Amino acid sequence: MDEYYMQEALKEARKAYEKKEVPIGAVVVLNGEIIGRGHNQNKYGKNPLYHAEIIAIHQAAKTIGEARLPEAEIYITLEPCAMCAGAMIHARFRRVVIGAMDKKRGCAGSVMNLLEEEHFNHRPETVRGILEKECADILSEFFKKLREEKKVRKNE
Ligand SMILES: [Zn+2]
Repeated sequence: MDEYYMQEALKEARKAYEKKEVPIGAVVVLNGEIIGRGHNQNKYGKNPLYHAEIIAIHQAAKTIGEARLPEAEIYITLEPCAMCAGAMIHARFRRVVIGAMDKKRGCAGSVMNLLEEEHFNHRPETVRGILEKECADILSEFFKKLREEKKVRKNE
């Protein structure tokens, strides 16, 4: 089941890819139903807060009309940053399911581990490595393409 929902998060990441945004996607699941979806839209939204998770959480909260989602799970293609890990704690997610890890910015075990910080009043069950390769591949493909495009531009 985790792989199924991670595929849905990957669909969101592909939407970002097509818009030339860093391809990261997220879905929020409640009782088996997707109640929020999001993909990274930093450039399009001209907003540093428009991360995939924030958009998906926003939509999910709106869907159920509650500030907390204690029964819900969130699936994300890349380990959350500090802001998004914080938002996940505020939302009180039951479970957080991660695809690839982010060594430079990840706050679910890479740089630090906010999701499993014992001093917080809420700790979601955290699962890592679901479709890890697919989630990492779409990012490396994106950055590879970006570098190639830059090279082409330089040579014109
Ligand atoms: Zn984030």
